[in-house]
Amino acid sequence: MKKRHFLILVTIVGPLVAGLYYLSPSNDLVPSLSAQERPGQKQGGGNQGRGGGRGGGGGNPIIRTLDANGDGIISKQEIDNSTALLKKLDRNGDGKISRDEMRPPRDAGGNNPPPAPRPSTPSSPPKNSLGPKPAQAAAFNAFAPKVKTTWDKQYLYVESDSIPDHQMMVGITAWQQQVPITQPYAGNNAWRIPLQPVPARTPMSAKNNFFRGAIALAANGIPIFNPIKNDGRTDTFLAGELDRFGGHCGRADDYHYHIAPLHLQKTVGAGNPVAYALDGYPLLGLTEPDGTAPRNLDSFNGHSHGTLGYHYHSTRTYPYINGGFHGQVTEAGGQVDPQPRAQGVRPALPGLRGAKITGFHKDEQGWNSLVYQINNRLGSVRFLELKNKSYQFEFKDTNGNTRNETYQRRQVGAGRGGRNGQSPSRRPR
Ligand SMILES: [Zn+2]
Ligand SMILES: [Zn+2]
Repeated sequence: MKKRHFLILVTIVGPLVAGLYYLSPSNDLVPSLSAQERPGQKQGGGNQGRGGGRGGGGGNPIIRTLDANGDGIISKQEIDNSTALLKKLDRNGDGKISRDEMRPPRDAGGNNPPPAPRPSTPSSPPKNSLGPKPAQAAAFNAFAPKVKTTWDKQYLYVESDSIPDHQMMVGITAWQQQVPITQPYAGNNAWRIPLQPVPARTPMSAKNNFFRGAIALAANGIPIFNPIKNDGRTDTFLAGELDRFGGHCGRADDYHYHIAPLHLQKTVGAGNPVAYALDGYPLLGLTEPDGTAPRNLDSFNGHSHGTLGYHYHSTRTYPYINGGFHGQVTEAGGQVDPQPRAQGVRPALPGLRGAKITGFHKDEQGWNSLVYQINNRLGSVRFLELKNKSYQFEFKDTNGNTRNETYQRRQVGAGRGGRNGQSPSRRPR
């Protein structure tokens, strides 16, 4: 049965393998126990700029689905999981994957968008913003100058390096050995928030969609991913994967949140958005601006009242943030598309069983030190980001063994990179 299954798979996959080069490895956490989480769309070595993100594996949903961890290879485990993975493509649940379901991107709003309006640099922020500053900029401007905004008639563009001004990583008890390095969310790789959100005809839930990439952007420029991993069950918060601020790092060493960044309320001011969903609707805190509890929230944590129009609220339990999109977004390859790409500098590592992160800080020389504990023994990862975008890493395990490595980050958009942005200049010592 297994063998037959495998043969069928090869028959399906064979003709599509040529499409493999489209794949961009995903970078979020991948649990050591499961190849299912498919996180951040992000990729590695950048390719043809923003356009690459869009075309990406989105062009080939079957391959993209089977390659659950997005590494460009369909592993034995992924083959073993293939039935479950393929079922995800069966959107209408009729047990078959129709031609339509094999087709890649579609408009989450239920409209089939014309194929043409996909300029090669869809998110390119204007050099000079057009017109008066949109109201949506206010939340992000509370974090200026670290977070920058520009805009045109359609979008607010938000630039950040994805490093927040609070402590990171401490408190994580399920760790994949990732650390936070700066991310190039700027220029053509900036975040974009629709300025005139449009209600979707068929709103899409985040319960069974959008397991890759961000679904919202926090006011401090940190992306917020789906709280649930793509196994459809694992709640990252309940699983101990998040630090005290609701964040952790993906496979590109990209820091992001998975739950509502309520700690930002003290900076944005009570009642103001702590984030914007990528459909353009704001995410408020736990209460209304007048301090009262939100009433009649829909299944996405949203509602409309007074002069606020439609907006989402944060909750302390699932869905924590927007549980889907009331507004139109384009879904492709399991994510809102397009969106910026994270860029890693080293290969992803497996989970470190039993590790609890107890410390993280940056010293005056720029060295970041992460300290973890396994059975009361300490280990650490120290790393330094140099001006030429090279990275020095010093690993010390709980047995006292040390290892030093240097990695080089490629330019964003400087051609198709290696896996996960891993550079050939990597040299274990
Ligand atoms: Zn994550
Ligand atoms: Zn409300």
